[in-house]
Amino acid sequence: MNTVLDTVVIGGGAMGSAAAWALSRRGRQVTLVEQFGPGHKIGASHGATRNLNPGYHQPDYVAMLAESLALWDELEQESGVQLLARTGVVNHGPGGDLQKIAAALADAGIRAEFLHLAEAGERWRGIRFDQQVLHICPTAAS
Ligand SMILES: Cc1cc2nc3c(=O)[nH]c(=O)nc-3n(C[C@H](O)[C@H](O)[C@H](O)COP(=O)(O)OP(=O)(O)OC[C@H]3O[C@@H](n4cnc5c(N)ncnc54)[C@H](O)[C@@H]3O)c2cc1C
Repeated sequence: MNTVLDTVVIGGGAMGSAAAWALSRRGRQVTLVEQFGPGHKIGASHGATRNLNPGYHQPDYVAMLAESLALWDELEQESGVQLLARTGVVNHGPGGDLQKIAAALADAGIRAEFLHLAEAGERWRGIRFDQQVLHICPTAAS
C-alpha cells in the first residue's frame, strides 16, 4: 500500500520541530520523522536550557530575532507552558559594536539602554565594569 504524505520534515530537533510547527500553522499536514526517541541526547537540542541573546548588530538578523520572540510568546500561549525566562542580557566591552547593536535593537523595537559603570556595578555585583555597558531589557511576555 502506498501512502502519500503532504509534507515531511526529517529531524525532530529544534529546527525540524520549529519548521513542522510553522508549516502546520499554515495548514500543511506535516509528518515529522525523527530517528531517535523524544529528548534524545545524540543531537544538538537536548538539555534543559538555552540562551536567547538578541544582541547582534546585523539589522536583518535582529529583525528575525524580534520575530522569533513573538513566536515564542505564541508557543507559550498555545502550549500553556512558560518556555522563556525573560531575564534581559548585559553586554560589556570595548569598541563600536555595542553602538551598532543598540541601533539594530532600536530598529527592531527591542528595548536596550546604556548604563553608567557605577549603576551596572551596583546591579551586577561581582562584575567589574570598566567599559561601556549595554543592557538589553527583558522582553515582556504578551
Ligand atoms: C551544548 C550546546 C549548547 C548550546 N547553547 C546554545 C545557546 O545557548 N543558544 C543557542 O541559540 N543555541 C545554542 N546551541 C545551539 C543549538 O542548540 C542548536 O543550534 C540547535 O539545537 C540545532 O538544532 P537542529 O534541529 O539543527 O539540530 P539537532 O538538534 O541535532 O536535530 C537534528 C535532528 O535530526 C535527526 N536526524 C538527523 N538525520 C536524520 C535522519 N536521516 N532521519 C531521521 N532523523 C534524523 C537527529 O536525530 C536530530 O534529532 C547549543 C548547542 C549545544 C550542543
